[in-house]
Amino acid sequence: MMRKVSILGATGSIGQNTIDLISRDPKAYDVVALTGGQNIAQLAKDAIDLNADVAVIADENLLPELRAALGDSSVEAAAGNQAICEAATRPADWVMSAIVGAAGLAPGLKALEQGAVLALANKESLVTAGPLILGTAKAHNARILPVDSEHSAVFQGLAGEDFDTVERIIITASGGAFRDWSLEDMAVATPAQASSHPNWNMGQRITIDSASMFNKALEVIETKEFFGCPHEMIEVLVHPESMVHALVGYNDGALMAHVGPADMRHAIGYALHWPLRRKLPVERLDLAKIGQLHFRDPDLVRYPALRLAHEVMQAGGLSGAVFNAAKERAMDGFIEGRIGFLEMAEVVEEVMARLDRRHINAEMTLDTVSKTDHLARQTADAVMAERH
Ligand code: NAD
Ligand code: MG
Repeated sequence: MMRKVSILGATGSIGQNTIDLISRDPKAYDVVALTGGQNIAQLAKDAIDLNADVAVIADENLLPELRAALGDSSVEAAAGNQAICEAATRPADWVMSAIVGAAGLAPGLKALEQGAVLALANKESLVTAGPLILGTAKAHNARILPVDSEHSAVFQGLAGEDFDTVERIIITASGGAFRDWSLEDMAVATPAQASSHPNWNMGQRITIDSASMFNKALEVIETKEFFGCPHEMIEVLVHPESMVHALVGYNDGALMAHVGPADMRHAIGYALHWPLRRKLPVERLDLAKIGQLHFRDPDLVRYPALRLAHEVMQAGGLSGAVFNAAKERAMDGFIEGRIGFLEMAEVVEEVMARLDRRHINAEMTLDTVSKTDHLARQTADAVMAERH
């Protein structure tokens, strides 16, 4: 039996790694939908190679180009956010959610509503609307499998165990591009410097988020939402080698660590084959050759995003939507040269302070999440304009 699969965000780093895995075993998969943001050439090539039913590009202006690139193939072309959501409703057994940012939320919900297994790389959907996405999964008997490497590692570390015996969950952080930089140097860091990661090859936005540890902040919230544990249970450990991805601490003092190469095909493959474990084309680590692994506590002064994550978890409600949207907008500001690297956290903190409890405590629906997201982006723009 062929499994029907769709990939949202197929042209990105996670999407391409997913395609790498499924194209190694073409007889096993029937590709339904592939979506992309702007990269027509990649999207059309993959859709033709994998014989997808439909290829969707987010930018509506690019529809004629997409049609042209698909030529006389049998792949249907579509464009726009609505079309991405429509593609996510097409019956599939397994859907990869790998759009970057809050834009991944609505199509992910559509995939859950049709009962598909949702392989969730898009951490922003759990951060902005955790209860909504988990509630939708429950209501439609759909399963969410984590694809973020740390969360896949925790998920594997919990397999067969009783969650009540878990004392702590430790996720590791490489420290990103500026791990050994002084605060003075970080203050004047350029987008190009923030966009290169020492260990992982990822999309630009998550790479910048790794340098500021906003990525780890999102992941701490993602951990709380996905595993349903109190925020006090979650720890972040800086581990420059990125080989231990997470550890689960049990009440007998045991730590179950997940160790593997810094290759996202591991976590993607685990979600693709779950509940089975299948052979994957990733490096086998030679620990004797590696010799040493290092661990240290994160510096909260250099990484205020981690402190803000705990504020978000304590505030609850729609504060995750505010945090994520303000962060996305502040990053736009940094990439466009409007604010400095360290100002991203200051802008986010200011937006969180300005949006009072009235916004945070509204009932969580896709509509209130979108409105809050919009308001937080506007507020972030205002804060950035006042500063410069
Ligand atoms: P990427 O930038 O490489 O790719 C993002 C994909 O989303 C592309 O296909 C892009 O065209 C599409 N896209 C961007 N904006 C869009 C929009 N507004 N509407 C529709 N589509 C849009 O990003 P990535 O590194 O592959 O990350 C994807 C997701 O996976 C993110 O949520 C990220 O945090 C998460 N993640 C990535 C990695 C990694 O190793 N790259 C690891 C863990 C988690
Ligand atoms: Mg991660």
